[in-house]
Amino acid sequence: MRFEFSAGGVVFNKTKNENSDIKVLVAQHSQHHGWVFPKGLIGDHVKGEKKEDTATREVKEETGVLGRIVKELIPVTYWYQFEGEKIRKTVYYFLMKYVSGDTKDHDHEMENVEWIIIDEVEQRLTYKSDKTVWQQAQEMLKSL
Ligand code: ATP
Repeated sequence: MRFEFSAGGVVFNKTKNENSDIKVLVAQHSQHHGWVFPKGLIGDHVKGEKKEDTATREVKEETGVLGRIVKELIPVTYWYQFEGEKIRKTVYYFLMKYVSGDTKDHDHEMENVEWIIIDEVEQRLTYKSDKTVWQQAQEMLKSL
């Protein structure tokens, strides 16, 4: 058994004061094709990198979008298998506000990157852990 730790972001782009105008950034993974929030392994690219910095960097690389962290969300975990080994992954997500950048600049790790309205997010997400993260993020968005 092995442990992995990743960090990522739920980025929102609030254009007006109404909830219906908030868009959320989701991405489709090029390998497993699931719709997810962008993330990446902590310490994989930059040794000793803080999880906040990993989250911001990975979101930018994978989606083309720069976000500013607003709040840390409660970490989620899931299990998967790689070459017969069980891996328990913990992911630290942060709620982020859009700063700059364009989804057309996403890298090869994601095959699609989209801004979608909040009413469509729950249904679009493939995995339970992302839906759990979204529930938290959605509550926070209501109070912003
Ligand atoms: P990272 O983005 O953390 O660098 P990765 O892109 O290399 O990781 P994962 O996204 O963790 O890899 O995918 C590894 C395996 O886990 C795939 O088989 C994928 O289908 C599955 N998986 C990905 N996300 C989840 C999830 N939230 N819940 C359950 N299984 C998942």
